[in-house]
Amino acid sequence: MRTIECRQVAKAVESLCIAACHELPEDVLQALERAAAKESRPSAAKILRLLLENARIAGQDMTPLCQDTGLAVVFVEHGAEVAVAGAGTIVDAINAGVEAGYEKGYLRKSIVADPLHGRVNTGTNTPAVIHLSIVPGDRLKLTLMAKGGGCENMSRFRMFRPTADKGQIIEWIAETVKQAGADACPPFIVGVGIGGNFELSCLLSKKALLRKLTEPSGDPFYAEMERQLLERVNALGLGPQGLGGDTTALAVLIETAPCHIASLPVAVNIECHSHRHKTVVL
Ligand code: SF4
Repeated sequence: MRTIECRQVAKAVESLCIAACHELPEDVLQALERAAAKESRPSAAKILRLLLENARIAGQDMTPLCQDTGLAVVFVEHGAEVAVAGAGTIVDAINAGVEAGYEKGYLRKSIVADPLHGRVNTGTNTPAVIHLSIVPGDRLKLTLMAKGGGCENMSRFRMFRPTADKGQIIEWIAETVKQAGADACPPFIVGVGIGGNFELSCLLSKKALLRKLTEPSGDPFYAEMERQLLERVNALGLGPQGLGGDTTALAVLIETAPCHIASLPVAVNIECHSHRHKTVVL
């Protein structure tokens, strides 16, 4: 059994928060470059180039990519042969890392303690939303996503009849993207979860956002559906920042799971162009 100290976990999460809020992943930068080169509308191409310029300045001057530095969502792949030792639990260590990262990185704290009553800011950007899975091996993989509120707000879930076909689901997802509009800061990355149950489909839609934008689903049926969806969504003409153009989304990514014979759950997690996530393996 390998031992990792809680303070190592906290330190790693602290660094992830700061890095994620200042550095767009390479696949997102490349997708923005490709979209800018392909745009038929000059104003849309100009917005995409401004987003690239914004990303360059963020990394260079250590100025956050966006004023909304997000809710910290942390995915943990916990090797079965790893013990996390020290004061408190791995959850405490992650929250300590988020608090330190948002403080030291001068990142906006956006979490309120109660959703309805008072809405008082916790002042620490905690608690993080943590998803923990146990995997084989002696490593601890931590992925942090800084998820903006504007795009999260436009995410949707629907329980379809099990007889629904691919076309109906594509149209509902396109309508979801259209409703998201400028409020969710396009161009989007659209995460889709199909199957599982109510909560699993939502989790899958968020996990889908962690795939590389150029990496299609491993299942040819869903890879083709991703391609059709991206075409359909971009045909909406919403464009960068909702001001018109060919680039409403940079990618559509689908994850699936088996489901009940009576169910067909579908969730869409909308992600803005400020697609901030970082991973570390301890
Ligand atoms: S939706 Fe994204 S780009 Fe828009 S304000 Fe929120 S974090 Fe920033």
